[in-house]
Amino acid sequence: MVSMTNRRVFIAQSAAIGVAATVFRPVAGVARPAGTNGPSAGMAQTVLGAMDADRLGCTLPHEHIADGPYFQDKWPNGGRREFTNQAVAQLKTVRAAGIDTIVDLTPYDVGRDIRFLEEVSRRSGIPMIACTGQRFFPPQYAGVTMPSRTIEGLAEFFGKEISQGIDGTGIRAGVIKIGVVGKEPTELEITGLRAAVRTSRATGVPIRIHTHAVDRAADNLVAILDDEGMNPAKVSFDHSDDSGDLDYFLGLVRRGYSLGMDHVHRGLMPNAKLSFERRAECIARLVETGFAGNVFLSQDEELGGSLLPEDVKDFRSRLDPPDGLLFTTRKLIPRLRQAGVSGQDIRVMTVENPRRFFGVSQA
Ligand SMILES: [Zn+2]
Repeated sequence: MVSMTNRRVFIAQSAAIGVAATVFRPVAGVARPAGTNGPSAGMAQTVLGAMDADRLGCTLPHEHIADGPYFQDKWPNGGRREFTNQAVAQLKTVRAAGIDTIVDLTPYDVGRDIRFLEEVSRRSGIPMIACTGQRFFPPQYAGVTMPSRTIEGLAEFFGKEISQGIDGTGIRAGVIKIGVVGKEPTELEITGLRAAVRTSRATGVPIRIHTHAVDRAADNLVAILDDEGMNPAKVSFDHSDDSGDLDYFLGLVRRGYSLGMDHVHRGLMPNAKLSFERRAECIARLVETGFAGNVFLSQDEELGGSLLPEDVKDFRSRLDPPDGLLFTTRKLIPRLRQAGVSGQDIRVMTVENPRRFFGVSQA
């Protein structure tokens, strides 16, 4: 529901985005790797090939189907094959319930298995977008080689996964995922972020950032993004609903950034610092203020965890939402509708924003 006042805010904001779109052109000096085909404007890169972004439909922009080797090793009977069959069966029910596209934000350093993703996408009929990038958690523990990486070296690697393919397969990444774990980014995370921006500007592929929203961490990334000339319309700060601070949210969306609201289910956990209701209320307030165009809904589910036999489920899988990949449609959206969010604004968040965001922004 958008009041007249809010509509003016919305129109002003849309105009600002229009300006940003003309200012932020692809960088002239950054070339695509020679001999490769970069993505085309308006197309999203799925694991089954380029797809017109208009066809993405209702899209979950931040999920994890499986960090393959980890889950597959834990499946006691039937190994990879059985695990894959279970994932396909589960994904077919998700598709039947109205989810059209899933974005998997599992980069190589947390066990991305691109052939697994391709197979479950093809067999379930759900287009999926795979990511390049860095989560940057492992180097905290075994930081031997990673700190020596340069911005250029990482950008080259990210660019190769977008323009040529992942792990020698020709299956291309359609989004860049970057992890910034704490309040202030580490040197290594800054290197990764700058590399992500340079890759994004050269290829038109968007960036999603894992952020520690409780400490308003995205505020500490804006200067770096600005310094690199990043178009805010192609950046989403994910896990934002771990904060309940509307002032923090408004500061970011007014600059043109997007917020990934993908931990809403964690508000249902017994020891939750921020309730499900409060998280939903923040989303409703953002919509009411005219910023539906800057909000993404997802649930950061690790589908593989939910498929494991009880005796090998670990901590991470216990964070899964009660309805798995359907938590957003079954629980969150009805709650938002109750709070006065219109069907049109739900469509903006679930269909229009992903269409604009994942459609590559250059020819
Ligand atoms: Zn995630």
